[in-house]
Amino acid sequence: MTLNIILLGPPGAGKGTQARRLVEERGLVQLSTGDMLREARSSGTEMGKVVAEVMDKGQLVTDEIVIGLIREKLESSDAPGFIFDGFPRTLAQADALGELLGDMGQKVDAVIEMQVDDEALVRRITGRYTCGNCGEVYHDETRPTAKDGVCDVCGSTDLRRRADDNEDSLKTRLLEYYKKTSPLIGYYYAKGELHRIDGLAAVDEVAAELSAVLARL
Ligand code: ADP
Ligand code: AMP
Repeated sequence: MTLNIILLGPPGAGKGTQARRLVEERGLVQLSTGDMLREARSSGTEMGKVVAEVMDKGQLVTDEIVIGLIREKLESSDAPGFIFDGFPRTLAQADALGELLGDMGQKVDAVIEMQVDDEALVRRITGRYTCGNCGEVYHDETRPTAKDGVCDVCGSTDLRRRADDNEDSLKTRLLEYYKKTSPLIGYYYAKGELHRIDGLAAVDEVAAELSAVLARL
């Protein structure tokens, strides 16, 4: 039995934080198009150069590029399931994902909408930093590292802030979310696949709500 879950929500909703827990707890594979695109830009490929500017402005990268990245990962993996984090972000991406999974004899099992208000998103995004080595996600106020400047998980001192985690870029990212991604809520609701959880609760409570949804599938 495979399990494919989409975490849907605006930037800062807590998708990456919860996806990492699901990887640890259930052995699923996290597919974050944001992480894949950041990897592409830091490796200096032609595609990386094209996407860097778009990402820094907070706009969406083309469907063609992100669908290509996801296709590659799906085709080369024999994981027991995937957590899609930050994908799909447009209706065209949602259609493409349905087709790709269908070709593998699989489907989207649940779409979890993480509901958070815009004010909380600004606080979350402007306080976020991550470990450049293992990807652990921290926050200045709600989840700082135990030891200043050192990752709790792997001990690395390579803690980073994202170039697009500023209020200006966040404004564009939120507009893109409401214009192009929020229609997916209706899309998956109509398919009977949508579940909503309160993303404003503490990390452990959100994780418990998420587990409860998955237990009911
Ligand atoms: P997303 O992947 O949806 O953009 P992240 O998981 O990276 O969001 O979380 C954004 C920021 O908010 C991070 O700094 C993270 O530590 C913090 N965060 C995540 N979930 C919660 C929560 N439930 N309560 C408070 N802060 C949270
Ligand atoms: P994230 O890490 O999910 O916050 O994504 C960071 C940035 O990468 C976004 O603001 C977009 O520019 C780009 N991006 C990530 N995922 C997608 C996607 N599915 N479709 C289009 N652009 C994306």
